[in-house]
Amino acid sequence: MAHEPTKIIACPTCKKSVPWTEESKFRPFCSKRCRLLDLGAWTDGDRYISGDRDFDGSNEEEER
Ligand SMILES: [Zn+2]
Repeated sequence: MAHEPTKIIACPTCKKSVPWTEESKFRPFCSKRCRLLDLGAWTDGDRYISGDRDFDGSNEEEER
């Protein structure tokens, strides 16, 4: 059985490394705060929609 290495992604808000695990409940953000900040950016204007993803979340779209 292959033991998959933990995938590390960068928090879109603060660029901090976030392990892509079940314990990272706010992924791709490092924390609730960063997620809220990002949502704040969204409501700040519509021009934010340009989908710049820092990672290629292949088939790992698990529950948010
Ligand atoms: Zn962050």
